[in-house]
Amino acid sequence: MAKMRRSVLLAMLLGPFVVLADVVPGGILVVPLPADVVMVTFEDRPLLIRNSKAIVGIGLTVVPGNQMLEISGDTPRSHVFKVVPKNYPEQRIQIANQKMVDPDPESLKRIESEAIRMEAIYRSFTSGPAPTVFNKPLNGRTSSPFGFRRVFNGEARNPHSGLDIAAPSGTPVPSPANGAIVLTGDFYFNGLSVFVDHGQGFITMVCHLSVIGVKEGQMVKTGDILGKVGATGRATGPHLHWSVSLNGYRVEPMEAVRIISAKP
Ligand SMILES: [Zn+2]
Repeated sequence: MAKMRRSVLLAMLLGPFVVLADVVPGGILVVPLPADVVMVTFEDRPLLIRNSKAIVGIGLTVVPGNQMLEISGDTPRSHVFKVVPKNYPEQRIQIANQKMVDPDPESLKRIESEAIRMEAIYRSFTSGPAPTVFNKPLNGRTSSPFGFRRVFNGEARNPHSGLDIAAPSGTPVPSPANGAIVLTGDFYFNGLSVFVDHGQGFITMVCHLSVIGVKEGQMVKTGDILGKVGATGRATGPHLHWSVSLNGYRVEPMEAVRIISAKP
C-alpha cells in the first residue's frame, strides 16, 4: 500500500497523467486512450482495449485507495484513479450438505487444485478483437446479486463472484458472446462448469449446469448452447451462476453487459 502511494505520487510529479473517476471493488473503469497507445496494464496485467478505451476490471479484493494504470506507447504515462469502498449486503444461506461448507481434507486439496486451474484461465490473455455483442445469457429473475458477502450455515465464506439467474433445470444456456471454450469440468463448489474466452482477458463462466454441451478447444458464437441449467456443486436449487472476468478479476456482470455492448 505504502509502495503504491509512493508510485502514485511519483507519477503525479513526473506526469503526464490524468486523474480518472472513482470506481468500487467489483466495478469496471472505462478509460479513453490516446491514439499512440500500445498496451495498458493494471497491476502488471494487460487490459481489454475496445473502441480506443481500456476496460478495467476492479476485483472485489482490490484495496480502496489510489491505484494506477500504466500506459505504454510513444509517450508512456500513468493514469491515477481511486477505488472507493462499497459495503455489499450480507446474504445468509443454509446448505443441507455441510461438506459444502466445511470440506474434508481430501476435498480441500481438490478445491485448491481447482482454484489454481480456474485462476490460470482467468489470468490468461489472448490477443485479437474482443466481441462487440455481449448478452445476459438468460432473462430470469436475479436470485442472488453479484458481490454479496456470504455466510453459509453461519460461517463467513468468499463473496458472491457472479450473478445467479433463476431458471428451471434443463433450460439451455446460450453463450453470451463469441469465444473459445477454454475449460470445462466438474468442480467441487461450481459443479459442471464452462469457461469461455472472449479475447484480451475477457472471460465468462457458467456453472451448476446439469449438462455440459461443448468441448474444450471449440469455438462458439453468440447464442450457441454451452449446456443446460442444473444444481450441481454448492447450489440450493436449479439456477445459473454467471461470472464475468476482466484482467483476472470477477466484475459485476450487468455492468459488463452495459459497457461492452455500448456503441462507440
Ligand atoms: Zn452464484
